Amino acid sequence: MPTVPDPLAEPLARRLKPAQVKALAEMDLHTVGDLLRHYPRRYQRWGELTPLEGLTPGEPVSVLVRVKKAQTLEMRSRRGTMLKLVVTDGSSELDVTFFNVRGGMWSRLREGRELLLSGTVDTFRGKRQLSHPAIIASAQDELDPEKVGSLDDLVPIYPASAKVTTDKIAAAVRVLLDTLGPVQDPLPEALRERLGLLGLREALVAVHRPGDEAHARRARHRLTFEEAFVLQVALARRRRADGSLVAVPRRAVPGGLLEAFDARLPFRLTAGQQDVGAQLGEELGAAHPMHRLLQGEVGSGKTVVALRAMLTVVDAGGQAALLAPTEVLAGQHHRSMTQMLGPLAMGGQLGGDERGTRVVLLTGSMPTAAKRAAMLAIASGDAGIVVGTHALLSDKVTFFDLGLVVVDEQHRFGVEQRDALRGKGRTAPHLLVMTATPIPRTVAMTVFGDLETSTLSELPAGRTPITTHVVPAGNQAWMDRTWRRVREEVDAGRQAYVVCPRIDGDDDDDPDKRRLVTVLETVELLRLLPELDGLRVEALHGRMAAEERDAVMAAFAAGAVDVLVATTVVEVGVDVPNASTMGVLDADRFGVSQLHQLRGRVGRGSVPGLCLLVTPLPGEHPSVSRLNAVAATTDGFELARVDLEARREGDVLGAAQSGSRSSLRLLRVLRDEEVIETARQEATLLVADDPDLAGHPALALAIEQMVREEQEAYLDRA
Ligand code: ADP
Ligand code: MG
Repeated sequence: MPTVPDPLAEPLARRLKPAQVKALAEMDLHTVGDLLRHYPRRYQRWGELTPLEGLTPGEPVSVLVRVKKAQTLEMRSRRGTMLKLVVTDGSSELDVTFFNVRGGMWSRLREGRELLLSGTVDTFRGKRQLSHPAIIASAQDELDPEKVGSLDDLVPIYPASAKVTTDKIAAAVRVLLDTLGPVQDPLPEALRERLGLLGLREALVAVHRPGDEAHARRARHRLTFEEAFVLQVALARRRRADGSLVAVPRRAVPGGLLEAFDARLPFRLTAGQQDVGAQLGEELGAAHPMHRLLQGEVGSGKTVVALRAMLTVVDAGGQAALLAPTEVLAGQHHRSMTQMLGPLAMGGQLGGDERGTRVVLLTGSMPTAAKRAAMLAIASGDAGIVVGTHALLSDKVTFFDLGLVVVDEQHRFGVEQRDALRGKGRTAPHLLVMTATPIPRTVAMTVFGDLETSTLSELPAGRTPITTHVVPAGNQAWMDRTWRRVREEVDAGRQAYVVCPRIDGDDDDDPDKRRLVTVLETVELLRLLPELDGLRVEALHGRMAAEERDAVMAAFAAGAVDVLVATTVVEVGVDVPNASTMGVLDADRFGVSQLHQLRGRVGRGSVPGLCLLVTPLPGEHPSVSRLNAVAATTDGFELARVDLEARREGDVLGAAQSGSRSSLRLLRVLRDEEVIETARQEATLLVADDPDLAGHPALALAIEQMVREEQEAYLDRA
């Protein structure tokens, strides 16, 4: 890609004083561009007071308030005076204390004055207060326009730290803006004109110094669009580059493994499974690698779809690998695939089907000899299907002819890991990514934008929808009833999960010092509980040795364990159709999507599923309203939205490990659906027209920078 020098890349050290440079560096702001793209969080107008109600203790804040009461006190322990203010936003109040007040400050802090204060909220004797905040400005002083602009201006309030307050950031920004020359705009002019977007320079000036709200909005819109567009161009180029790779076409052979498997299936594929299957079959048969994301409701049967794609590749003489995020899950996939395939998984063995292949498991905790045997089968091509964890990514693992990579529960793997496995093919293998939870379309377009998407929206017929209730832990009658329900289910021949947030009391203390329910305690408790007398209760968690874990999982799958008390190791993919009931203890400690995943473990067979979300929190607590949301719907897409709205964007993208955390400042993947939509269309057009971005050097530069930031963010996390 061609590149050009960029005035925004200039180090701050050339423009600002050393003390400023040092302070800003602590906020990870190093260049002119870094600081100019450190956008105000909001704008404040003199005379419009900041609502104090929602301030959270511990966070740095800037508030515009009116002094309601001012009182000086002699300090007893130290020399000097203390000034106590009560400030108000018109309805709510906040205590403010200043120590050792100097003479000049007095007059500014009198009753009736409006002040812009910056500091950290804490609580003192149950009341919220600001201790010794910085006084950024006081509206009744003759305003220093250098410092705060005129009374009519909007005052930008920046994301700040306790040390680098919003006014310090504003002062530094002002220096840069005053001398800002022309900048190169990543958005092509024609596109800007067509969509009515501001130029970059104008937008940067306006976002920091808007004349009015409308101007600020236009500036932010343009900058938001830019973020979406740069990302979408990068994704479009990735799609294009992938599309030009050559893959070996893999087609199922008539009378082969796939047909034999279909004939064995104990159920009919749903219409959705058939459609997606046909689509995958077609793309696997093409000379370019498939890149597909398969998402679907919990329990919609993604695994069968993936297995059929894997068998297609084996039919065509290649190998398929499934990458799972945990050992429990890898073990289970291996077990269930082997079982579904029956004699078809015993290729070359006595009693095996002649069309059959071998399914091998490779995980880090396997004994060395077993690992070596698995690696041999993978290298020789004896194993048509390979299931494993990160261990598959090791350099020591070589494939005979890897034709398809399936990544299960993608959010735990980075793009890099997915590529590491794909690199093991002689030519580019086909790729199928399965997500654990349904994700909103715009998130798919942003986070998985280099993949085409298929969705399984229906559940297999005969499933009874799962019922979910919120149970108050403090209500003994309810709790008794909960355990009696478990008993009834077991008496009816079924099984139950009980999920706890902690393994034992040694785990990290909970932030708000609540003692959380643990797996080990719960096992003890349930074994003593009269309601569960005689039931087989076992623990499953991540600190158990791998063989022990496998043994418990296998026993539960075989029905030899009635109640499995576990951590979230059962969250993803665990499939025991006979399990009908789940209790989640301290359920408020889990995220919405996580709870949806968890309860997807029950109601997988033909018996109705029951999920009980137990919490000690009072009904009006915000976390309980999340639980109520989970209880109210089984629509995973709906819940994914609820979940994402409750989290910050960085977490959304961070969780997905696409790493775009630092490059997306304004874009909100849920809110900015239209922006993302338009940006994607425009990006696709532009890349089709100018794939190397030869005519768009500023755009090429912006992408380079985004990729660099992404890699840095990725390395930070690793
Ligand atoms: P998920 O999409 O959550 O990964 P799975 O693939 O684990 O779902 O499937 C859930 C359960 O449904 C499994 O026990 C599977 O065997 C079963 N199943 C899959 N497809 C069908 C179908 N068409 N009819 C009946 N049961 C099915
Ligand atoms: Mg699954």
